Amino acid sequence: MSDASELEQFREETRAWLQENCPKSMRSKILDPTEEVWGGRNAKFKLPDSKLWLERMAAKGWTAPTWPKQYGGGGLSAAEARVLEEELKRIEARSALKSFGLWMLGPVLLEYGNEEQRQRFLPGIIRGETRWCQGYSEPGAGSDLASLATRAELQGDHYLINGQKIWTSHADKADWMFCLVRTNPDGKKHDGISFILIDMQSPGVSVRPIQLISGASPFCETFFEDVRVPKANLVGELNHGWSVAKRLLQHERALISKLRDDAPEEDETLPEMAIRLVNGGEPGPLQDHALRERLAQVEMDFLCNKLTLRRSSESIAAGIGPGPETSMFKLYGTELNKRRKELKVLFMGYQGLGWEGAGYTARELQMTRDWLRSRANSIEGGSSEIQLNIIAKRVLGLPS
Ligand SMILES: Cc1cc2nc3c(=O)[nH]c(=O)nc-3n(C[C@H](O)[C@H](O)[C@H](O)COP(=O)(O)OP(=O)(O)OC[C@H]3O[C@@H](n4cnc5c(N)ncnc54)[C@H](O)[C@@H]3O)c2cc1C
Repeated sequence: MSDASELEQFREETRAWLQENCPKSMRSKILDPTEEVWGGRNAKFKLPDSKLWLERMAAKGWTAPTWPKQYGGGGLSAAEARVLEEELKRIEARSALKSFGLWMLGPVLLEYGNEEQRQRFLPGIIRGETRWCQGYSEPGAGSDLASLATRAELQGDHYLINGQKIWTSHADKADWMFCLVRTNPDGKKHDGISFILIDMQSPGVSVRPIQLISGASPFCETFFEDVRVPKANLVGELNHGWSVAKRLLQHERALISKLRDDAPEEDETLPEMAIRLVNGGEPGPLQDHALRERLAQVEMDFLCNKLTLRRSSESIAAGIGPGPETSMFKLYGTELNKRRKELKVLFMGYQGLGWEGAGYTARELQMTRDWLRSRANSIEGGSSEIQLNIIAKRVLGLPS
């Protein structure tokens, strides 16, 4: 049997399985972020079907389609995973699980973790039982991440951790944190960093939420006071965590670029929205010449970016990358997302200025919040200026 016909058979089986197992209510875009499923010890399922959907997908290993079966993953080839993605998109299936563990930590554990760590942590990520947060940034270490000062001192069979993290998204809901700590304060700063996994329920860990301009509060400050972490939780080699950290950032940047593609509010294309809001529902060119040009430019850039991302995700699925080029996607994708969100709010006119109260639909209020949230896209995961530095040095090979 040829590869093509095997793949076709896989497509048919996948389609039939999805038909039978994807609940009807899970076949629509998520317009309300509170319906998203992030898993964890205290997982919230606003809709009962989302629990069922997660359980079914996890049992197949399809929350992590290409991870090895021995850890509970789907064991699919890159080509099969692509078919699965296409079939899920075809029926507009919701993502069964959103997870920093799936997007960032898992791939790094597969590459740098030891066997014991993979067996211990990957199945919980795949089944959505463990929710992870990212402990990178500190008040004095954001763009200059290698300046981080949270100390981890080896004391017998454990590390003693003291210090503070900031901007830890969803730390208040997470079960575990993947964290960068300083294990050697002497010598070059990049050489004294280690990558360690911390149970958020450990005595001495405390979390304080931070309020944002968008009204939501996904951020926290995280404090460590004499926190004991077993030696076995160190990933990779002692003092060589910088390589692990950088690799994880490549996965994070690839994800930030990709996520823009299926953001929750994307139930309507930009041209559709312009026709509805600016043209009063009449198809045809927009009357406003300047707005028309702006829309055409943003839409063309969006489609080009989408195609380039698809090409890149196919290479990643085929085992090539992600590499430093993720910085290009991160830079372009996030700046483009800001332009798109700005245009949407412009189309909405006064309805885009609402924050609360009567006179605005829930969807309008959400879109205004999404526009504000997009301002952070070019900061999180490394700011645009830092991506430009990386592109100059690592992609173009320009001198420092
Ligand atoms: C929505 C969001 C979610 C986040 N989630 C997390 C998380 O879960 N975990 C976590 O650890 N962190 C998280 N962060 C933190 C994020 O990684 C940092 O905010 C980011 O790396 C920038 O660091 P900083 O805020 O300290 O800014 P700074 O480093 O102080 O930078 C301030 C400004 O100076 C510029 N700048 C700094 N250095 C240079 C340079 N060498 N060349 C040119 N320009 C420069 C920057 O680009 C920026 O414009 C999140 C941030 C956001 C916005």
